[in-house]
Amino acid sequence: MISKIGKIILKKHIHQIENGYVWPGGYPIYGVMQDGGCLCSNCVKENRRQIYLDSLEPSGHTGWELLASNINWEDMELSCDNCYMEIECAYPDESKRQYQNN
Ligand SMILES: [Zn+2]
Repeated sequence: MISKIGKIILKKHIHQIENGYVWPGGYPIYGVMQDGGCLCSNCVKENRRQIYLDSLEPSGHTGWELLASNINWEDMELSCDNCYMEIECAYPDESKRQYQNN
């Protein structure tokens, strides 16, 4: 049974990922799920309730259990495992971006 404080922390954590950026710094943040998948801020927002409930009582196999959040520093190819949208990175390598566009 998760404590009241634990529930508040979980809600704040989900809310922070929904915002898409952490402060200070404004770095792009995404959710890391129990199964190792990445979830973008939009998908966290759209599935907020499911994530909250499943994270309160993890069963290990719903795919909506939040394990952590992470800042995407440099991975330009990181994408959401739910909607496949690109997850913004804080320090894109512009030389690689030009290469991709060619
Ligand atoms: Zn997504």
